Amino acid sequence: MTQLAVMKTTFAPIFPRIVPAPTVERVETVLVDLPTIRPHRLSVATMTGQTLMLVKVHCSDGIVGIGEGTTIGGTAYGAESPEGMKLSVDTYFAPVMVGQDATRVQLLMARLGKMVKENRFAKSAVETALLDAQGKRLGLPISELLGGRRRDRLPVAWTLASGDTARDIAEAEEMLARRRHRIFKLKIGAKTLREDIDHVAAIKRALGDRGSVRVDVNMAWTETEAAHGMAALADAGCELVEQPVASGAALSRLMRRFPIALMADESLHGPESAFEIARVSGADVFAVKVEQSGGLFNAQRVAAIADAAGIELYGGTMLEGAVGTIASAQVFATFANLHWGTELFGPLLLTEEILETPLDYSGFELTVPNGPGLGIALDEDRVAFFARDGQRKTISLPA
Ligand SMILES: [Mg+2]
Repeated sequence: MTQLAVMKTTFAPIFPRIVPAPTVERVETVLVDLPTIRPHRLSVATMTGQTLMLVKVHCSDGIVGIGEGTTIGGTAYGAESPEGMKLSVDTYFAPVMVGQDATRVQLLMARLGKMVKENRFAKSAVETALLDAQGKRLGLPISELLGGRRRDRLPVAWTLASGDTARDIAEAEEMLARRRHRIFKLKIGAKTLREDIDHVAAIKRALGDRGSVRVDVNMAWTETEAAHGMAALADAGCELVEQPVASGAALSRLMRRFPIALMADESLHGPESAFEIARVSGADVFAVKVEQSGGLFNAQRVAAIADAAGIELYGGTMLEGAVGTIASAQVFATFANLHWGTELFGPLLLTEEILETPLDYSGFELTVPNGPGLGIALDEDRVAFFARDGQRKTISLPA
């Protein structure tokens, strides 16, 4: 008997057989088109529907992770679109991922980063799917893979964006009565400064202390308009203004001039931009968005930079559906500070449910699921029905 054979015989029962790590077998993408409950008017676009780019990462151990990439108003908000993400993931991400160890998520994302530049939203979708799979594999929620959650429930703001003051007040009253939201964000910037200020003041007057009012200008103002606007908004009882101007330099010049918090959103593109804004004291608050940050780990890095710089945090949304919303919720649940709550209301803006069990929005908050991975399951029949090339397109409606 050779020496090696002796060793095998001797040690085989002691050392467990080394099981190869599960690998990525296949990456699947689908575009899902869902209508919104009402037109959603932003300064950049009016949305009547939302397109979700869902990713499924199929692994060799039979586990499938899901992720979502979603934009606001197609390409009205940023460079990526759901259609573009699908193309990138199918053509460029998948070949880099297939055959790789599915359990080493950060390593695989770093490998992807070498082969794929930018594409922050698509990377976020894929990273979500890998973390969902790994959480399912280990029996842990994603929040625990990210260091552990600090809260199970997240306050959720609602955006009033019908474009009509009376309708917005009625909508806010309904949300208060149903105990779903008591923080209201108003989308302004598409009308004149005077009209916008009157709109905000009328809503704040109607709600009084029952609801807080914030505005999002989506970069529509010049610096001069912003200076006038912020003074008037402070007088109207508005507590925060989000991205009034596009320029980071202008944002930092507006800082500390008004008794109202200034929040960076569009100008925040992940850790490097977070550091740059913090360096020039360019915001009181960061609207951290998982997709804008380029993924869940990067969103945590943005939050760490904010904490170090004394910048407060708000959990933002790209109006994602349930998958992207819960990916964000799992991250925001881990933040040390979340002073301004979240705006994870995306699924509530859509008319259709695509989960087996709907999310719990109650008592002005969203419950962060505590099952393995994201802790949610897609209703596959409904996803197939609303898929871009799905059944819905072929249905004939009666005349
Ligand atoms: Mg915004």
